[in-house]
Amino acid sequence: MKLTTKIFIGLILGAGIGLVLHFTAPDLFGTLDSYVFSPLGTIFLNLIKMLVVPIVFFSITLGTASLGDPKKLGRIGGKTIAFFLATTTIAITIALALAYIFQPGNTGIDTAGASFESNEAPTVVETFTNIIPANPILAMVEGNMLQIIAFSIFIGFALAMLGKKTAAVLRVVEQGNEIMMFLVNLIMKFAPYGAFGLLASAIGTMGLDGAKAMASYMLVVIACLIIHAIVTYGSAVSFLGKMSPIAFFKGFFPAMTVAFSTSSSSATLPISMKTAQENLKVPKPISSFVQPLGSTINMDGTAIMQGVATVFIAQVYNTDLSFSQLLMIVLVAVLASVGTAGVPGVGLIMLAMVLNQVSLPVEGIALIIGIDRLLDMARTALNVTGDAACAVIVSETENNNSESSDTPTQQLN
Ligand code: ASP
Repeated sequence: MKLTTKIFIGLILGAGIGLVLHFTAPDLFGTLDSYVFSPLGTIFLNLIKMLVVPIVFFSITLGTASLGDPKKLGRIGGKTIAFFLATTTIAITIALALAYIFQPGNTGIDTAGASFESNEAPTVVETFTNIIPANPILAMVEGNMLQIIAFSIFIGFALAMLGKKTAAVLRVVEQGNEIMMFLVNLIMKFAPYGAFGLLASAIGTMGLDGAKAMASYMLVVIACLIIHAIVTYGSAVSFLGKMSPIAFFKGFFPAMTVAFSTSSSSATLPISMKTAQENLKVPKPISSFVQPLGSTINMDGTAIMQGVATVFIAQVYNTDLSFSQLLMIVLVAVLASVGTAGVPGVGLIMLAMVLNQVSLPVEGIALIIGIDRLLDMARTALNVTGDAACAVIVSETENNNSESSDTPTQQLN
């Protein structure tokens, strides 16, 4: 049986068993959760998280070094960031439009007792100034992705510039990368059990609580995620990436299921890269550059949630948003998506930043917090798909441009 099928079965079984136990035997669920579901999920999460920092370091360093000259690096970097910003803007526009059409917040939701403390969202300026790590080792210890990426780009650039002088170090980085990819393959064998444990634990704990009251909000978010995947990525992949959307989604599906079960773009990164390189044939240097960056700064699913949530909260609190406020939401949600770390639930914290900008009550977050875990899974699956779509497009346009599809190995030898 194929690994994807196994992961999928793990997901469905986990969700089904979690739901049944939630309603029929909550005590049994509690015991099973403590001894089976949660440990399985945690072991899987830790296994992949264990690889994230070294993979980001090795792959970005190698990707940057393999891209070689600064012009090419600038061109690929420019295309990548342009794609990320454009798709995130489209994502949030779809979210605002659908939230206006379906009005999920005008369904008599009670705001009494809603309270939410927020002071954790960093400002936009902080997000940008923090990109350069004052202490790269600390950045690695803390798992600060944006800082690790910046440091790795510097090292990769130096390796490219120094050429033969640092060939031995480049070789070490290349071999480090090989080791990581080998471990990803190994760990993926555990993915079906991990997905089972994560889903059983999450769904068994939540049941469908809150889902009924919040059904219209959830449906609007999910509809936006699906529309953005099919229309935006589907057409971008087929027109710019010259790949059939069906082949794209089919090929990338394993990574989407892992993103769905882990709710973390960062944790999924090792698998998204492997899947894009093997199933979508994205050359290693491009995948190594685009996907780690995307898993940190490109979060279309998160932007969609923030767009729908903002309009939802405005509707619940009977506040009209002016056109300039809507533009402000687009701008801030794009920046918030850049600043959102690829870990579970951060999108909700960054929502506070968007709400503050348009003077909406931050307590509104309390209304959606209960069902956010479920939506986090879905939006994370979209987040990683956007990075893969970008990698496919950049590699296709670079293919036309030059012989950039050389693998690092080919370039090294
Ligand atoms: N969990 C999301 C991710 O890792 C971020 C978020 O929206 O909370 O991509």
